[in-house]
Amino acid sequence: MIKGLSRIFWGTILNTVIVGPSLGDELHTVFERGKHLLENELGAKMDVRLEIREDTRWLERGFWAHNSAAYYDRSRKAVAIDPNKCRILLANTKTIRQKEGRLLVLMLHELLHAYQELELVKREKSIRVSGRWLRFVCEGHSLEFSEKLAQEAGVSLPREVEVVSWNEPKSRQFGQVHEAFLYNFLYIKSRTYVRDRCKSVTDFHKLLQRQPSYSEVLTHSDKRSPMSAVPEKYLRSVRLKDTTVTSPIEFDYLDASALLSPKDFENEEMIRAFRGGNCCEIVSRVRVETIVVHYEPQVVSDRVYRHLRTQCVSQFSERHRKVLTTAGLYENRTMVVWTEDGHQNWAFAVKLKGPLVIVVRFPITEDGAKLAKAVLDQLVP
Ligand SMILES: [Zn+2]
Repeated sequence: MIKGLSRIFWGTILNTVIVGPSLGDELHTVFERGKHLLENELGAKMDVRLEIREDTRWLERGFWAHNSAAYYDRSRKAVAIDPNKCRILLANTKTIRQKEGRLLVLMLHELLHAYQELELVKREKSIRVSGRWLRFVCEGHSLEFSEKLAQEAGVSLPREVEVVSWNEPKSRQFGQVHEAFLYNFLYIKSRTYVRDRCKSVTDFHKLLQRQPSYSEVLTHSDKRSPMSAVPEKYLRSVRLKDTTVTSPIEFDYLDASALLSPKDFENEEMIRAFRGGNCCEIVSRVRVETIVVHYEPQVVSDRVYRHLRTQCVSQFSERHRKVLTTAGLYENRTMVVWTEDGHQNWAFAVKLKGPLVIVVRFPITEDGAKLAKAVLDQLVP
């Protein structure tokens, strides 16, 4: 038995919402088996129930990115399973036993999220991990132990279960690159991180005691980069007539890399030089997004910093002349580049000032371009 793990902490109902027909009976079987395996490992009873309902509204919420067949929703304490995605998932597996194994891993993964939820509630006050990193440790823990528990129980697993493939971005557009980075990060990098720190499924709480860092995860080095508040201070200094500046929110290393320098995501120097970033919205008659990213040129070598500048310029300069003509603005300064984000009719303006990279994303209209220019002029006098 594990101390402090009483039934009280297991008083959760795990609603499983089935979207679409079938899979019901199979899921009941794997649910019971998964629950039993997990309870053995935890030394406690889990008071979780499987309730199967069909609810197609869940499909419309659009959270089924990356072909995942199931999803745990923390706010509803429920799991959604898409039978169509399950069928695709199982299509590549050859034997019935392997199909069962794969479904069991899927169910265990979600049951582990339910277990994590209870631990999170119980340890609320001592949790030092937040936001994206919380999801990172939860996914890593679920991935690692769903397969480990199934394998220890002698379940036959197809090879492909163990290999989650690295997602290449579909295009160089920020949204696509960001999505691919986040997926790789949450579903590939997380597993190695958790494996090094958790010998048993009940070690989950150890992952909550300290916030991981990008340098640990991407370069396996414990050297942490000191953070700085410069970007936020900078953004708060915007004072334009008739404009509203929303409070800056943190823009972390992953966001910054996806936007500025995708190829350098795992470059150790870049990670060490990163000092933080923020973005906010500046609203006048139109709305522009403003991002300030801070790198420390003293830490990063001249060569790498020059490379970063070149990357920014080449990334954003491809189509700048066309956009500038459209917007009626053209500045022949090397460090000011404008580009079009073709999919949404937005454009970017980028300036570099000492250690800061300033990016303004604006709608391609005369008003949008005017506001972007005014914001840049104020931030880079
Ligand atoms: Zn998950």
